[in-house]
Amino acid sequence: MDTRSFPTSAESADIVIIGGGQAGLALGYHLVRARRDFVILDAGSRVGDAWRTRWDSLRLFTPAKFDGLDGMPFPGDRLAFPTKDEQADYLEAYAARFALPVRTGIRVERVRQDGDGFLVEAGSRRWRSNSVVLATGAEQVPFVPVFADRIAGSILQVHSSDYRNPAQLRPGAVLVVGLGNSGAEIALELSSDREVLLAGEPVGELPFRHGRSAARFALPLIRFAGTRVLTLATPVGRRAAARFSGPPLIRTRLRDLAAAGVTRVQRITDVADGLPRTADGRILDVASVVWCTGYREDFGILDLPGASAQRPDHERGEVSAVPGLYLLGQEFLFAAASATLPGVRRDARYLASRLAAPAGRRSDEPMLVGVGRRGRA
Ligand code: FAD
Repeated sequence: MDTRSFPTSAESADIVIIGGGQAGLALGYHLVRARRDFVILDAGSRVGDAWRTRWDSLRLFTPAKFDGLDGMPFPGDRLAFPTKDEQADYLEAYAARFALPVRTGIRVERVRQDGDGFLVEAGSRRWRSNSVVLATGAEQVPFVPVFADRIAGSILQVHSSDYRNPAQLRPGAVLVVGLGNSGAEIALELSSDREVLLAGEPVGELPFRHGRSAARFALPLIRFAGTRVLTLATPVGRRAAARFSGPPLIRTRLRDLAAAGVTRVQRITDVADGLPRTADGRILDVASVVWCTGYREDFGILDLPGASAQRPDHERGEVSAVPGLYLLGQEFLFAAASATLPGVRRDARYLASRLAAPAGRRSDEPMLVGVGRRGRA
């Protein structure tokens, strides 16, 4: 690290990575190899908790052969789809194996500019650093429409980020709002013991059946497209980024939902007399609502000139207006797969090359204009 002196009241590190999920760890691996001075601060109590705290039955849709990070393949059957706990345990083992300097239980509340560097604040603790990498995940702030407040208190409401299993809901019919992958998988699970209404339209469906054969033949093509073709370096990728509203249905398809007796309804647009109302005026008398309505990005911890809660403008993760500030793991940061395991692995490698070399042009890879200020439903 450079020889700048830091006050004793603050700890110091050349690079502070905020977030010790797969994105922070993937970058950490390369920084250890480059012998950089850095620390990874994570709000969770245990590495892997972002996966561990997802719903009980969740399995990854990416096969094990794509779920490992650089330097340590995911163990076991390469065509299997790990459970969320297996993925969490893999990340914990990864951090231990490479002795990554992760400090858990530290929620960063503010990042301020401090001379040429940064001051990172978490409660009474402070870190001074020359660079900061925000690897806090694309799924930090659950999004629920404002009218949800007007739904009667007798109806149990839960966002997919807090959903664990069917036993958590009230007996009786359930409305699942949002037909992305979370909505489709949760609706299918709930349909085994209750009436399920599912609101919304999917972006599309994969044109093949998800499973071991797909892991062998078709999913590698999807990975190639998501990491190499649909990037901000290609015209087709830039068009896809501008229109991106989430991936198509991957494992659970519309015909699976129909076969399980799930009833599709139109989008929920309002509440009438305490009950959810669809765009075509149907009033739905249900016992529970599961909001599978996605997340909003939030960059509110950045207390920097010109910063807002929106994603700052950046070039492949390097924030244009704030030298030394980097992003990693966000949706379409560089490629369609940037927020997934295969995509973040590549973005981390690139960012490490930018952080590891002297200032100025630090990599052979071309600089690209990224997509700034985008949210995600
Ligand atoms: P996270 O895993 O969210 O990690 C971010 C970390 O930052 C967390 O540990 C959090 O505690 C910490 N943090 C946040 N804010 C602060 C703060 N202020 N201070 C300190 N720490 C902070 N991808 C795939 O490749 N394959 C899949 O099959 C797949 N399935 C998915 C299924 C679901 C239901 C979801 C939601 C996502 C899935 N993804 C999948 C997408 C992606 O791989 C995961 O969301 C993954 O967890 C993202 O990793 P990350 O490190 O970017 O963020």
